Amino acid sequence: MERKNAWTTYDEKDLQALEDVSKGYRAYLDGGKTERECVKETVAQAREAGYIDLAEAVAAGKKLKAGDKVYVNCMGKAVMLFHLGKAPLEKGINIVGAHIDSPRIDIKQNPFYEDTSLAYADTHYYGGIKKFHWVARALALHGVVAKKDGTVVEIVIGEAEDDPVVGISDLLIHLSGEQMAKKAAEAISGENLDIILCGKPLDGEEKDAVKAGLLKILADKYGIEEEDMLSAEIEAVPAGRTRDFGLDRSMLLGYGHDDRVCAYASLRAILSLEEEPEYTCCCLLADKEEIGSVGATGMQAHYFENAMAELVNLTYDQYSELTLRRALAACRMLSCDVSAGFDPLYASAFEKKNAAILGNGVCYNKFTGARGKSGSNDANAEFIGRLRKIMDDNGVNWQTAELGKVDVGGGGTIAYICALYGMEVIDSGVPVLSMHAPQEIINKADLYEAVKAYTAFMRQAARG
Ligand code: MN
Ligand code: MN
Repeated sequence: MERKNAWTTYDEKDLQALEDVSKGYRAYLDGGKTERECVKETVAQAREAGYIDLAEAVAAGKKLKAGDKVYVNCMGKAVMLFHLGKAPLEKGINIVGAHIDSPRIDIKQNPFYEDTSLAYADTHYYGGIKKFHWVARALALHGVVAKKDGTVVEIVIGEAEDDPVVGISDLLIHLSGEQMAKKAAEAISGENLDIILCGKPLDGEEKDAVKAGLLKILADKYGIEEEDMLSAEIEAVPAGRTRDFGLDRSMLLGYGHDDRVCAYASLRAILSLEEEPEYTCCCLLADKEEIGSVGATGMQAHYFENAMAELVNLTYDQYSELTLRRALAACRMLSCDVSAGFDPLYASAFEKKNAAILGNGVCYNKFTGARGKSGSNDANAEFIGRLRKIMDDNGVNWQTAELGKVDVGGGGTIAYICALYGMEVIDSGVPVLSMHAPQEIINKADLYEAVKAYTAFMRQAARG
């Protein structure tokens, strides 16, 4: 069962549309290096498209009808867009869900110290990383500092052309005999991922003068005291912009394709819908997927269910728990997350005919998991059958894959959590090379096909 390379199917119009999607995505990715920044940009685009805050509708007791558009902002770190359709909610809704958190290095709550004329920030990394990727490279700091008076200071350092960058040092090769003999997982320790922030003593200070200089900059420039770091969320991420990758500019090299590429494709799809879709459509962008979908903004929290309850309340004459249960169970969902692209240099990790090939289009994973599919959502064959028809009817280039060879490793997504309601869910996404590395690679054609696929799904998915 050979699948075509999507590029071979494009005419001039496709190529233009593809570049337009890529351009929009680059802006989204460069402006959204944290989950908070992604939510901000998503809400801005939604409001521009006529979405209103669901909380406002609830407060006003405003009944909702087909064509109405509402969003839910969950603590600024997860967000959902609902575009109400003609069918009542108990017929189920079409959900396209992705995650907007990415692996990174978080600053600890009591971070600052000075050692040998350098001021450092202590860190605790987030998500699955190869630690040796994160040393000896330019990092930027993004995040918020919440002060006791309730004000929140937003910070972005290291992205503007003339901004300074920060980073983590590595031992010189000349003295690395011992380090190079270690296993790769142990070559760099988690506690050694400390970020150099300053290297100049403050005039007139005797003890920890470099750290004093750091604190003076934070006070002068941002109005922050050292104690304010107790209530801060600062993430160190790779500095710099997404770049065209490959001499033919067919790919994109950037930080956080996992999973902002699917998030952007989902957002773009829902914003392109006609005024009154058949079924209510939802773009769901979750946080904390990389650490198990935990916490109030992770998919295991109940914000989706709560929003559905509010929608039942605002679209029916009378609220009913049974209507809510029926609505949740009748949903169709694409759990959109990146897939492991086949890498010829590491071919032995994959089983090639069931691997996602860069350029072959959007990818569907019936199951994920590890060791006999443990922890997997396993999409129903009947659902996949209907999905195949939607994809083929809409000229989408698509492929199926597993995450690597059996028993080589594994991974999970948000799919199994949403499946708990009894809805139909399948994993779908864009193949990525160097997943979870500071700079990941995708093929522009796969992004373009994801937008086509998610749009078609929102428009046409229905219960069999
Ligand atoms: Mn992911
Ligand atoms: Mn991931």
